[in-house]
Amino acid sequence: LGKKLSTALSKMNSSQVLDNKVFNEMIGEIVTALLQADVNVQLVKKVRDDIKKKVNLEKIPSGVNRRKLIHQVVFDELVALVNPRKKAPKIPEQKSKTGEIKYKPYVIMFVGLQGSGKTTTCAKLAHHYKNKKKKVCLVCADTFRAGAYEQLKQNALKAGVPFYGSYTEQNPVKAAREGVKHFKKQKMEVIIVDTSGRHKQEEGLFEEMQEISEAINPKNVIFVMDGTIGQSAFDQAKAFQERVTVGSVILTKLDAKGTKGGGAISAVAATGSPIIFYGTGEHLYDLEPFNAKSFISRLLGHGDFGGLFNKIKDAGFEDQAEFYQKMMEKEEVTLRDMYEQWSMIIKMGPIDKVMEMLPGFSKDLLPTGKGEEAQLRIKRFMCMMNSMTNKELDHPRVFHHEPSRFTRIAKGSGHSVKEVKEMFEEYKRFAKVLKSMIKRMKKGGGKGFNMNQLM
Ligand code: GDP
Ligand code: MG
Repeated sequence: LGKKLSTALSKMNSSQVLDNKVFNEMIGEIVTALLQADVNVQLVKKVRDDIKKKVNLEKIPSGVNRRKLIHQVVFDELVALVNPRKKAPKIPEQKSKTGEIKYKPYVIMFVGLQGSGKTTTCAKLAHHYKNKKKKVCLVCADTFRAGAYEQLKQNALKAGVPFYGSYTEQNPVKAAREGVKHFKKQKMEVIIVDTSGRHKQEEGLFEEMQEISEAINPKNVIFVMDGTIGQSAFDQAKAFQERVTVGSVILTKLDAKGTKGGGAISAVAATGSPIIFYGTGEHLYDLEPFNAKSFISRLLGHGDFGGLFNKIKDAGFEDQAEFYQKMMEKEEVTLRDMYEQWSMIIKMGPIDKVMEMLPGFSKDLLPTGKGEEAQLRIKRFMCMMNSMTNKELDHPRVFHHEPSRFTRIAKGSGHSVKEVKEMFEEYKRFAKVLKSMIKRMKKGGGKGFNMNQLM
């Protein structure tokens, strides 16, 4: 989907005149791309009509950049699709305004098809809340699948949170009720209840889900959906929504190859509830808060979702965009720019994965699969750069005139001259790649930053 959408948009960017014909062609391509990504037909029609309503080529004042405006409208429309008006329920404060403790348990019930990732995600979410210093625990109400309790127990132990369940209990409603009661007595703030999966939308299991819901009265029902499923996303989400009030959605397996964005859009539309997190792997920490804007940015800029989620973490994305935007307006790539880029990378997460996707870094700096080594190397280089003067950071030329500067920096930072020269070589490579990339970006049309031009 990403590839097709961005092609549609960049085609419009590069065409000589922007008339109704070009505009309509672009819309046609966006429609096709959304449909192919398994977005529900009715939704696609709505997007198309809304874009047409919002853009009236004749009425755009002459001073306005039309391409930019259309870009923005398309972007906003897509963001609106994954951004419902309904807010996700919040964990209540345990203290009243006057400061007295008022125990208010927040019971969460997980629902979703078998294999969608409920049990794994329960533990991830518990881990997340635990890191936020909440008193959180897990209850196993899956008496259907053999080994369900053992799986939850293992996950709970890994996350280091209390759990409740039994190897022998046959009745899921009872298991859920007892578990919640048990933890309420302990004044647990967040009680997460894992339920059994459904192979398909089977009546019996749906009834069970309703009964559990009535027994424990959850403040939030989280619908877990496998992000790799295609066409069926809308109907599946709808079926669950019809039987319990889904409060929020978690998408899983966005790290898997070939994951399309359509499922997310459809699930939100079908339930009217927000996506709160997405899963990017099997580990406890592979859970990311969902942000509609960056989700759509990615969708617009990239073909393969799975690969991308693996490479870059949410946090640094907008900083990066800003960085490249700034670079486009500059004449020279300096040591300071490299320093800035490195500081960002270090913040962004698994360093080898991040660097893989960013242009300008040599293979020497990043031996494959050696993220930690690369990180150390970068930190050493940055330490040398801390011994540089502003002039050196901003005008790399000075090194050619006065090589003795290398000796001073080496001494000042406690490294050998050879090491400082290595760092300078790395900078030269960085500057070269970045310059050619910026040239391409400028040629690619306009000033606007587009992740697509990066690749
Ligand atoms: P449940 O039947 O809904 O409880 O699903 P499980 O939690 O047992 O997960 C089914 C499979 O999906 C397991 O092998 C999980 O490790 C895997 N899984 C869950 N979430 C993710 C994810 O975000 N990424 C990947 N790659 N695998 C996941
Ligand atoms: Mg399970």
